[in-house]
Amino acid sequence: MQASQPESYCCPICRQELPCTWLQREGDSPCPRCGQPVWFARKTVGDVVVLTFLPGLIGGAEALHRAAGVLEAAGSASLLIVNLAPMRFITSVFLSMLVHVRQEMIARGGALKLCGADGVAREVIEAACLDSVFEIYKDEAAAFRSCAAPRRDGFQQLLD
Ligand SMILES: [Zn+2]
Repeated sequence: MQASQPESYCCPICRQELPCTWLQREGDSPCPRCGQPVWFARKTVGDVVVLTFLPGLIGGAEALHRAAGVLEAAGSASLLIVNLAPMRFITSVFLSMLVHVRQEMIARGGALKLCGADGVAREVIEAACLDSVFEIYKDEAAAFRSCAAPRRDGFQQLLD
């Protein structure tokens, strides 16, 4: 895993590259390569995995059952960045799934950071008192910058 890999998003199921225009679409649509319904697009940057969650499929109670798939997509990454920017809303069930994924990442010696949670998504996170649990960054670039900066002991950095 070298940083020379292309930083393009791939389907988490078939691992084929996704067109960037597809990521910006509205609503549900299956992977244009393999036809499977996908929840998120995946890319790797060095040993960091970025999962950008897509609008549509993730609202319901089935979110809890998706944690295994998210962890599988994270693989052996030292850091998992979850980008929520395309999502129009998030649910408490979805957040519970992320809490579980975060715990698993920490158990593996890794970490999970959130980014792109604006507006309603941010309100849902704060209402669940999870803004002190998750490290939340404005965007992907800010989340990456946080890796380069020295960590503050024990405190979550909350940037807006
Ligand atoms: Zn696919």
